[in-house]
Amino acid sequence: MKVIKSNKGLIVVVFLSLIIWACAKVPLTGRRQFKLLPESTLIQASSLSYQQVLDTANIVKSGEQAEMVKRVGNKISVAVEKYLKETGFESRLDGFDWQFNLIQDDNVNAWCMSGGKVAFYTGIMPICKDETGVAVVMGHEIAHAIARHGNERVSQSLALQGLATGTDLLLLIKDKPNAARQMVNIAYGVGGQLGMLAFSRKHESESDEMGLTFMAMAGYNPSEAPVFWDRMGQLGGERPPVMLSTHPHPEKRQEDLRRLLPKAMEIYNQNKP
Ligand SMILES: [Zn+2]
Repeated sequence: MKVIKSNKGLIVVVFLSLIIWACAKVPLTGRRQFKLLPESTLIQASSLSYQQVLDTANIVKSGEQAEMVKRVGNKISVAVEKYLKETGFESRLDGFDWQFNLIQDDNVNAWCMSGGKVAFYTGIMPICKDETGVAVVMGHEIAHAIARHGNERVSQSLALQGLATGTDLLLLIKDKPNAARQMVNIAYGVGGQLGMLAFSRKHESESDEMGLTFMAMAGYNPSEAPVFWDRMGQLGGERPPVMLSTHPHPEKRQEDLRRLLPKAMEIYNQNKP
């Protein structure tokens, strides 16, 4: 396992983290972010976690659904890249290497780690129903990565353990790879077990807003987003999907989406195929 070895690298990491602490702002929503680790560290950690997931998962390599996940992922990532470049946020994409995989797993889940590492589980595909439904989820998950929500979560976890820098995370990956991997997996909502809360409601709302815009930019009709989340909300029951665990108020989500929809529809009308 490779970690940064030279002192020069460490100095760069510390310096970068100071800059990021001072001025990180989420694209589109403009929310200020504090206590972020260098994203390059998160991308490194995510890349290791993602590879481990792929090594142990049953990946669906061909067929309509797997192709759909890749197609939607490619379209939305292209639109997101264009938007970030136009708005001066292209540094958010540093170190990104997009991957879109469908995993055979009955859990209703999908996620995107730092660096653009996306997984959809087959369990979510019937709720998505069609390509636009996949785009709702894809836009939302990619938004988590672009907004660096996982970074905020890991930064909080490290702080709770009395560790606070990217260097600490790199040391943790080296000394306690399982603990580091678990921390990263929890932060990105990997797995299907309830009880591991991934993103906060603040993060979920922000991803809803950004995701709505991202899908519209890629030419997918955003008016399908409230319809999709309504289908998700109806799952509930004894084992609510992990994706819903931080959303106790589906009515609030619907209200927010409907408020944001007119602006997203304008963007869609300029980009629809
Ligand atoms: Zn989410």
